Amino acid sequence: MAGILFIISAPSGSGKSTLVSQLRTLVEGLEFSISYTTRAPRGSEENGREYYFTTREEFERMIAADDFLEWAEVFGNYYGTAISALRHAKDLGKDLLLDIDVQGALQVMKKMPKAVSIFILPPSPQILEQRLKNRSAAEKVTDEAIIQKRLAAAKGEMTKVWEYKYALVNDVLENAVAELRAIVLSERGEQEFDDLAKTCRTDTASPKLSAVLEAFGDKGQISTVNVNL
Ligand code: ADP
Ligand code: 5GP
Repeated sequence: MAGILFIISAPSGSGKSTLVSQLRTLVEGLEFSISYTTRAPRGSEENGREYYFTTREEFERMIAADDFLEWAEVFGNYYGTAISALRHAKDLGKDLLLDIDVQGALQVMKKMPKAVSIFILPPSPQILEQRLKNRSAAEKVTDEAIIQKRLAAAKGEMTKVWEYKYALVNDVLENAVAELRAIVLSERGEQEFDDLAKTCRTDTASPKLSAVLEAFGDKGQISTVNVNL
């Protein structure tokens, strides 16, 4: 079934890019929205592939022209999803996946209540720190201040997990990939994936989820505010 809008958010370093790139190889008919950003390209990133890289002036012109479905400032740069991405996926007859931060996700949930939102959590603060460090080392950038900033931001973002329809913990990679795939396929109506997808619903008490939130300093209670259910 085409036309489903999936939103995926995760604190930086949780493994979202890793999971999403595996999902791409496993699920057909899923279009990945290419966001606009004012940050500079990293490593081998190319304009029009990972992002459309643009200037602050051009981004602000697009905000004024109402070109964005949502936009936000993340770590000092603008990021936004163009409304044209929705039209493009619809024209192709595909579902669309948005990889966006919590601020942007909340905007989309409000505008498009049928969107299927998924939050990816790291297993613990210690593992998140280790993953951030490993990735920095692999990219040959070691800035402890940036890592500490991202860890602090992660705690804030994770308090919003209950606003999402699904949450999964990226502990063992292959399990997390299987859960992500099950969510997408279950939402498409493939019933054999319903049971696994249901274990990731935020409206069912999940001891695993509560334990992770507790480790990050949240009580892990189900919020009374759950805009997406
Ligand atoms: P994000 O896109 O959320 O910022 P990445 O996908 O870049 O995160 O992952 C951060 C680091 O953690 C990378 O070095 C990646 O290889 C590693 N990683 C991702 N998932 C797992 C996992 N399940 N177990 C161990 N390491 C992982
Ligand atoms: P990065 O710079 O590491 O690629 O992305 C930083 C953060 O910006 C990630 O959390 C990513 O999900 C988020 N992001 C990427 N594109 C968008 C977008 O279009 N809108 C919003 N709100 N966030 C985005």
